[in-house]
Amino acid sequence: MRHLADTNTSIWTLPSPSPDTPAFPVLETDLHADVVVVGGGITGLLTALHLSDAGQRVVLIDAGQIARRNTGLSTGNLYTAVSNMSDLSARWGGGVVGQVRALRAGGIRTIERAVRRLALDCGFGRVPMFYGIEHDANDLRVRVEQEMLAYQRAGLTPSASRGGLPFALASGFRVEGQAQFDPYRFCLGLAAHLGRRIPVFESTPAVDVDAGEGCVMTPGGRIHARHIVLATHSPAGFNLVQAEMEVYRECGIAVRVADPPAPGIHWIKDSERSLRAAVAATGEQWLIAVGGKHQVGEQHRQQEETQRLDAYVRERFQVTGDVIAWSAQQFKPADGLPYIGGSAHDNVWVATGFQADGLVWGAVAAQLITEGITGVHSDAARLLSPLRITPMKSAKGWARTNATVIKHLVGDRIKREMPTHVDEVNSGCGALVERDGQRQAIYRDPQGQLHALSPVCPHMKCLVQWNDPAKSWDCPCHGSRFAPTGELLEGPAMTGLRRLAPEGGP
Ligand SMILES: Cc1cc2nc3c(=O)[nH]c(=O)nc-3n(C[C@H](O)[C@H](O)[C@H](O)COP(=O)(O)OP(=O)(O)OC[C@H]3O[C@@H](n4cnc5c(N)ncnc54)[C@H](O)[C@@H]3O)c2cc1C
Repeated sequence: MRHLADTNTSIWTLPSPSPDTPAFPVLETDLHADVVVVGGGITGLLTALHLSDAGQRVVLIDAGQIARRNTGLSTGNLYTAVSNMSDLSARWGGGVVGQVRALRAGGIRTIERAVRRLALDCGFGRVPMFYGIEHDANDLRVRVEQEMLAYQRAGLTPSASRGGLPFALASGFRVEGQAQFDPYRFCLGLAAHLGRRIPVFESTPAVDVDAGEGCVMTPGGRIHARHIVLATHSPAGFNLVQAEMEVYRECGIAVRVADPPAPGIHWIKDSERSLRAAVAATGEQWLIAVGGKHQVGEQHRQQEETQRLDAYVRERFQVTGDVIAWSAQQFKPADGLPYIGGSAHDNVWVATGFQADGLVWGAVAAQLITEGITGVHSDAARLLSPLRITPMKSAKGWARTNATVIKHLVGDRIKREMPTHVDEVNSGCGALVERDGQRQAIYRDPQGQLHALSPVCPHMKCLVQWNDPAKSWDCPCHGSRFAPTGELLEGPAMTGLRRLAPEGGP
């Protein structure tokens, strides 16, 4: 298996022969705007587009490069359902699943309109979605029937189908009118358009947010704005919604196969796999397989899950070439709905809790946040408000989230097993090591040099864990991730891991 050296690379973000990737400057001055959008994934870019269409003076910043985080690592499927419609229906009832379907259908239309209006070359196309099971067991059949019922309750019209894969499904259904695209090329085209209308900055992290002052601090300058949109996947810094979300990683692989699936979205529910055929910007044809969801920070799980995904694909398809592997993050909300809208600070807006359905939720968020900022109030905004209180629907999620946080805040510190000795840390790997009487996060780079870091996540003080396939330090509590040498990769933390004195240093 070929893990790409840059683990933030999927088939969408592979080096493309096209020289038109926009590159944006780093912010090096203070700015004033109506709205500062923090985050250049699909959520931030579409929000900036809507706000600028509505006449707002917008500035957009991204800590890294446009869409190279979760958006560029996604499967590129756009569907009106969510991953688990029967669960949503059981929690919220038919009225809400119908509302969700309508909102998400609107989200897909938003993306389609942007594709047409800006002539974005991103392979957007309408396709069917297939949902099914491979194994013929009663409980699984019931699951398919329940899901089909929930789709009908939402106003969708599923019809029985055995899918369009080179292997037979035991039972399943299909829904027409869904869509697929290349999420990265979509965002690059959108960013290029935005860059001609508003200031856009890359490599410009928000290192602090002062809601009271209406100010976002970056290393090179401050942005003063009436409104701050945190389109950072999980809101950067502290936010109440973080106590309501479980954080997972999910694996993706891309392989060349002789027998690709029919065009469409293929969800195999008994193995929790998602499959699609795709053409990357390089022109290469791929099969993408996604699955192996596991909690962030569970050591070795990513490696195991990626290997399982690889074996799953090899057992079912004629694989003809290399396998490319990556992974991405998802935030699961306690009550099954995303958190979109104003936060405890009236001028700070958040969009999170998208699970693995966030390309469309991102488009919905862009619409709702723009409406909120321009003074339009809707039922949808109330339904998805981050300030909603839903104890009956959230209890289990809260219990699981907070048990995870307590386990890692307290448990990780009192574990007594022997930590790895520094000599056992291989080249290109990291481990938590007891050193000089304290636990340290040690990384040995490919040249053999040791890098010593504090293992304490600057967000809420949990201990990070080494994720070997992704070559990152991951925080199991709220999902912050750091490069081997400590730099922040992904929030909610806003700064990196503290560096400790190097070996033999003072
Ligand atoms: C394996 C996998 C497959 C998926 N496939 C699908 C799919 O097919 N369809 C679907 O609908 N959803 C899918 N999802 C979910 C989807 O990828 C995400 O929900 C979605 O991309 C979120 O977009 P976003 O713009 O909110 O976040 P991101 O794409 O993560 O963008 C956030 C941006 O904010 C920037 N940022 C973060 N912190 C800061 C800071 N402090 N300062 C400045 N910038 C900052 C980051 O650099 C990043 O560019 C999948 C998820 C996984 C895990």
